[in-house]
Amino acid sequence: MGHTEFNEAAIAVRVQAEQLRVFRDRWMRGAQTSPLGLLFIGWVIHLSAGWQRAATWTGLMVIIELSVFWIGQRHRQAEAAHADARRWTRALLATCVAAGLGWGSSVWFGWSQSHFMLYVINLCVLVGIAGISTMIAAPHPYANALFSVGLMLPLLAHITWVNSIVALQIMSGWAVMSVVHMLVAGDHRRELVRQLDATERNRQLVDLLMQARAEQQRSAERLKNLVNVDQLTGAFTRRYIFEHLERQVANLKRHGTPASIIMLDLDHFKMVNDQYGHPVGDRALIAVALAVTGQLREGDLLARVGGEEFLVLLPMTSQSDALLMAERLRAMLQQTAITEGDEIITLPASFGVAELRPDEDISNWYRRADVAMYQAKRRGRNSLFGAL
Ligand code: GH3
Ligand code: MG
Ligand code: MG
Repeated sequence: MGHTEFNEAAIAVRVQAEQLRVFRDRWMRGAQTSPLGLLFIGWVIHLSAGWQRAATWTGLMVIIELSVFWIGQRHRQAEAAHADARRWTRALLATCVAAGLGWGSSVWFGWSQSHFMLYVINLCVLVGIAGISTMIAAPHPYANALFSVGLMLPLLAHITWVNSIVALQIMSGWAVMSVVHMLVAGDHRRELVRQLDATERNRQLVDLLMQARAEQQRSAERLKNLVNVDQLTGAFTRRYIFEHLERQVANLKRHGTPASIIMLDLDHFKMVNDQYGHPVGDRALIAVALAVTGQLREGDLLARVGGEEFLVLLPMTSQSDALLMAERLRAMLQQTAITEGDEIITLPASFGVAELRPDEDISNWYRRADVAMYQAKRRGRNSLFGAL
């Protein structure tokens, strides 16, 4: 498939949507696990600044984490309904900033000169939370940055205000680790994008393949139809009915099943063409095929074997039954007519009937029906003759 044309725009849209979906689900999962961190930092704040501050901060954070969950659900619903999810995407990104600010503000809530150790513990836990959040938000191109900036702002402000060398050292270590985290998260995102891209390309290839296969099947059908069905009258072709004649010869040899054919040739058809023109002649041929087909039983076949010559195959039918059938067809065609302006054109035909003999081949069988048909012509047309 050297000339496969991928729909690059669709790939870009799909990859972006999937990236967003993975980020959203992970971000919601993060919100689900947040109570552990909240309880711990809440406890640290309680120890250093009292339960009221601890409760205020924890309450604030519960609201933020619940909103992550709520907005994530709205985003999911909009996506499932194929509705515009962009405002929920923006809201999700806003929660990244809010969550960063919230976690970072814990140092302000818990600050107490007399509990410096607890402050350091708080900082260390935040370092861990920042690392985890970076990995959680990795699928999205800049959710990470939003969270980190949110987290850094209150921390940097606080460190500047406290002016503590220990805090500065922890923050420096953190800065180094952040670079590592960001690099790993970037690799992670690129790997995800590669996989999503490949998946989408595979999906498009499968689509193309299915289309090509369906198209091929349609072409095969069309070709089969062209080969087997006469395009003017809808009767089968000579080629098609000869295959079936062959089968009848085999069936008679193997199972003794009888079969008969009726050859029919329209009478003075050249005159129809000469008087009314070829298109009217064509219409007449269509009318004849339609009328004959209406008389056939299940399993009988009608083929157009010449210009205005038709062959009817009657499996499981003896000579005498085939003669009855031919007489029915003769009487019917005698009544069949097409109109051209005010003129009514009748379409009588002559019929030759032949039952397959045990030791003959199809050409002999066919020839006997043909000869019988000419006998009927000689008898004055609009008649039938049974082969000897
Ligand atoms: P007969 O009673 O002896 O069979 O007379 P006939 O005129 O039917 O016989 P003949 O074989 O001389 O003429 C057959 C005519 O059928 C010749 C041709 O113009 C016409 N014919 C053959 N194929 C077509 C066709 O596809 N469309 C039309 N309109 N006419 C066709
Ligand atoms: Mg003829
Ligand atoms: Mg004829």
